[in-house]
Amino acid sequence: MFLIDSHCHLDSLDYNNKSINDVMQEAINNDVKHCLSVATTLSGYQSMKQMLTPYQNQCSYSCGIHPLNLDDEDYNAERFETLAQEENVVALGETGLDYYYQQDNIELQQFIFREHIRLGRKLNKPVIVHTRNARQDTLTILKEEQVKSGVLHCFTEDIETAKQLLDLGFYISFSGIITFKNAESLREVAKYVPLDRILVETDSPYLAPVPYRGKENQPAYVRQVAQYLSALKGVSLELIANQTTKNFCQLFNYKGVLNE
Ligand SMILES: [Zn+2]
Repeated sequence: MFLIDSHCHLDSLDYNNKSINDVMQEAINNDVKHCLSVATTLSGYQSMKQMLTPYQNQCSYSCGIHPLNLDDEDYNAERFETLAQEENVVALGETGLDYYYQQDNIELQQFIFREHIRLGRKLNKPVIVHTRNARQDTLTILKEEQVKSGVLHCFTEDIETAKQLLDLGFYISFSGIITFKNAESLREVAKYVPLDRILVETDSPYLAPVPYRGKENQPAYVRQVAQYLSALKGVSLELIANQTTKNFCQLFNYKGVLNE
């Protein structure tokens, strides 16, 4: 079996009691044979890449600036474009809009989001989108900028939003939230989204799935997300693994699975 964690932040785990090697080994032990480690600032991308170089066959990266990290560094379009062209960068992001935690820089969030989409079109790389309390603006900007391909990560929106994203050619990524007790309406969305448009993710170190809630999340636990999804969809775990891996390779133009 081959599972892929399509969204994690491997540089943000707590390494006081474990090493990155432990985390990568635990992933392998659970058939999680690849991870996309997602950057949240450009400097963060550079240090993350350095940290993960020994594991470069097991990881790919995204490069970009999270909407809640815009205060952390001055945006430099040239630097962004240079870094985004690096070899193991399969996506731009995570980008998007977050009006839940920050509303004093909405214009800047929208500008930087548009920059990611434009660069994605130029470099032919998909965008990884985060949205919170900003559903309509997110959809509007994706349409206005004629986004080419991407994924809405850690999906928590409604069926209507999922439908509009699917119409745009987007993939929908589900996290451990689908295992949470109060996530009944999200489970309805997961039933609705066709299997050939679904990705699975942990968003580690956040949002550990049941039965690991309260513990730090890690890529190995994407197995629980896939398992839960397989029960929801009434199909085998193997089928979910195969299909989500295929979807990942398609979206991110990732060919590593062929070398398995
Ligand atoms: Zn994330």
